Amino acid sequence: MSDAPRDRGLHAPLGVAAARSALVKWVDDAGDAGRTFLQVRLLSTRPGVYEVRHRRDTHRSLPSLSTVTNDPFAAREIAQATNGGGYRPLKTAPNLRQGWVIGDLDARGLWTALDYLYPGCAAHWHAARTGTLRVTHWRETAARQSGIYGSVKLLPDDAVRNAVRACCGDAVCLRRVAWDVDAGTPLALATEGEPEHETVPCPEACSLFISFARKVLVLERSPRTDLPGLAPLNAAETEQVRALVAAAASGTLGTAREGEFDEPTNPRRLRYLAARIAQARAGATAHDGGDALPCEGCPRPVPCAGCPLI
Ligand code: SF4
Repeated sequence: MSDAPRDRGLHAPLGVAAARSALVKWVDDAGDAGRTFLQVRLLSTRPGVYEVRHRRDTHRSLPSLSTVTNDPFAAREIAQATNGGGYRPLKTAPNLRQGWVIGDLDARGLWTALDYLYPGCAAHWHAARTGTLRVTHWRETAARQSGIYGSVKLLPDDAVRNAVRACCGDAVCLRRVAWDVDAGTPLALATEGEPEHETVPCPEACSLFISFARKVLVLERSPRTDLPGLAPLNAAETEQVRALVAAAASGTLGTAREGEFDEPTNPRRLRYLAARIAQARAGATAHDGGDALPCEGCPRPVPCAGCPLI
């Protein structure tokens, strides 16, 4: 289970005012260097006045950017679409568009703009820094789901781990997962190293993850056929491999929409398949390494690396 019932409540229990003061002080203390928060750069341009822009635009001149003055609500529209105009269902995906700057913000405006760009992130960042972050583990989140999402509670632990690898890695989401399968069952995933930006924890599985988990459950329940040298695949996964090759050949790989999990080349679907294949290969390698298997009469359909019989 997650926190004891008496401790449950907001993920960031110190509240917005304390988090906002800490954020503003953190930016003030950085001086002219500014601070990087996920994909944006926060800068104090003069005492009490702030600017936000994409971090890759740090050295661009103001005339070269689309400039908004003293309007933190402009961040809402900026956060909606990628550089290519695609909808961003997950605001912490590393695909924030460039080419804009929001300036002349006061401290409240800075907070508001950041909260539109990255909902909840500054509060969770502050909670993590102060050791007050509260998490909700997967089994509790899953148990709350109903309707078409109610089945996600049936996902086995290993499938949850692979779903996190696929859906939450740095390449697709800038938050770092802080929850586990349940309080006694850690996710125990390999660390991805220090991020280039401030760490923002993820205290609870988001709606995109829940939707992905539902797709994963369907995949896990379809019968799979062993494919020597690869991994057991079901019909949908075999179709995925075909679609992947076709998309790579036609140059359309990478155009599938982020939240459309029925598309075979959806990036999270491909990451899930890659995680499963890597797991299967690692298991096969570990098994192949056993000394107990004699070579003579070896029934393996695929020879081990360095097999003396071939
Ligand atoms: S559940 Fe995963 S994808 Fe969703 S916000 Fe958390 S880390 Fe990101």
